Amino acid sequence: MTFKDLGIIEPILKALELEGYTKPTPIQQQSIPILLGGKDLLGVAQTGTGKTAAFAVPIIQQIALDHPPSGRNRKIKALVVTPTRELAIQIGDSFTAYGKFTDIKNTVIFGGVKQGKQVQALKNGIDVLIATPGRLLDLMNQGFISLRDIEYVVLDEADHMLDMGFIHDIKKVISKLPPKRQSLFFSATMPKDIVELSRKILGDFERVTVKPEQATAEKVKQEVYFVSKGNKVNLLVHLLQEQPESSVLVFSRTKHGANKIVKKLAQAAIPSAAIHGNKSQTARQNALNDFKDGKLEVLIATDIAARGIDVDGLSLVINYDLPNVPETYVHRIGRTGRANASGIAVSFCDKDERPYLRDIEKLIKQDVPRIGDHPFMDENQEAPSETQQKQGGPNNQNRSKPQSQKSGNPRRGNKNQRRKNTRNNPR
Ligand code: AMP
Repeated sequence: MTFKDLGIIEPILKALELEGYTKPTPIQQQSIPILLGGKDLLGVAQTGTGKTAAFAVPIIQQIALDHPPSGRNRKIKALVVTPTRELAIQIGDSFTAYGKFTDIKNTVIFGGVKQGKQVQALKNGIDVLIATPGRLLDLMNQGFISLRDIEYVVLDEADHMLDMGFIHDIKKVISKLPPKRQSLFFSATMPKDIVELSRKILGDFERVTVKPEQATAEKVKQEVYFVSKGNKVNLLVHLLQEQPESSVLVFSRTKHGANKIVKKLAQAAIPSAAIHGNKSQTARQNALNDFKDGKLEVLIATDIAARGIDVDGLSLVINYDLPNVPETYVHRIGRTGRANASGIAVSFCDKDERPYLRDIEKLIKQDVPRIGDHPFMDENQEAPSETQQKQGGPNNQNRSKPQSQKSGNPRRGNKNQRRKNTRNNPR
């Protein structure tokens, strides 16, 4: 199956080729025919599955075929609502990339920054608007946005939007949409309130379910280090010095924790930056851009800020804290091993986090290999895996050392020198 087989038009095929997409992912294979056929879609899928192209490509194609270029007189024909600024920017970039050889224009609006530039972009005329709910309503209320001509609407990461308290905003937006439209609704999970919300927006729809959770977990090489809370930062420094050429995303449960890690790494001469809700939008975007460009090797993020972050070549994810919601673990490790790549996810587990590890292993239906013999080993923390607990068997866990600790590792050597080399030679 190719994109051509799916009936994608030449200018988009050319753009996808430029992006290096050789064949459609499962969600693209299933969704594109439904959407080109004009039906509504309920997509049970999360970021990392190729979901953005699954909706962006058919929307671009339909607008390109149905509407001749109309310069500044363009009306907004497609609206994508998504929970976070980072996701919005990323989706905007995707529309720009896939629509590169068409005349489709998009803009992205989100809160936390002044509205002037966004309003100007709207005035210049766009076909596709990507927005977070708060700023969207705000600019609608000020009369800068009309949804009168919308033909395509996408609610992206609906479960996440509800978690973030956007339900009323979303309902208001839905009430302003013209009745004749194609609606797309994406959510990673489908609890009752999400099903109810989906009914409010979808008409005659088809459902596509892509379960990346297990698939992602299987693709990513996972390891857990037992380490006391107090030694986590030392272990982090140790691992980062062992992996100097990597781009590493470190997850912290709290904003305060993320800031603290940045400070501690600075003391060890490892530059890093934190992104979380307390940082200004500009600071977050700068850090993210530097990370994507390879100028910054280590990014510390909270879950909300990191949701959907898509960085090519992200080789290592470190769970500095284990999340108490096991699905969050799967979201986190899915940041590495995107689409067809594979990656490594390392977790630090202190005494109090052992129950979280058990929940995670239950969810992913596999044991996360334990790393023994690291310099900050917490001897009191041997914990049986989920399977071993069930079997009541001995604690004969996988004791393989991380790649970096095996003898003869070609990456070993003068770490300071290697850090310097990497800095001078970004990817
Ligand atoms: P998404 O779920 O839309 O965030 O996409 C996850 C990642 O997969 C992004 O880096 C996309 O650029 C990439 N991707 C999407 N579709 C394809 C494809 N057909 N082939 C290869 N990579 C893809």
